[in-house]
Amino acid sequence: MLVQQILSSKHSDAVVTTTADTSITDVLRVLSEHRIGGVVVSPDGTAIDGILSERDIVRALAARGPSCLEQTASALMTPNPVCCAKDDTADSVLSRMTEGRFRHMPVVQDGRLVGIVTIGDVVKARLSELSMEKSALEGMIMGH
Ligand code: AMP
Repeated sequence: MLVQQILSSKHSDAVVTTTADTSITDVLRVLSEHRIGGVVVSPDGTAIDGILSERDIVRALAARGPSCLEQTASALMTPNPVCCAKDDTADSVLSRMTEGRFRHMPVVQDGRLVGIVTIGDVVKARLSELSMEKSALEGMIMGH
């Protein structure tokens, strides 16, 4: 299975982004409104400055308290996130997420942001693939 197939199976291919100068309070609003755990930090929706996850905000809250809410996305984001391409395999994405201990991966084409996959998207797609393989094998064994 390829990243392209995972993107096609998602309800929406829109990527939620925020700009580097957005306050953490506003980023929290975006995460809550869209019911997501991370946003790509981008000046224009296609170039990637970094990625900011709820975990970055939780860590900053624990370390510095509520004053971190007045900081900007650029202060808490991870710059140069690990990205993947549409023709990467789901397994390679899963390995990189597991090794890097992150759950979000921007998808890039020609240096532009074209999608995002989460560990949930990848696991869902793999489970559906395994279920289809199981049905096909059962069909072969039963002679259907
Ligand atoms: P997550 O598990 O995705 O919520 O993120 C956990 C940590 O990894 C946070 O510090 C994120 O900023 C960072 N992170 C998330 N996605 C990526 C990525 N694709 N590449 C590098 N770091 C990431």
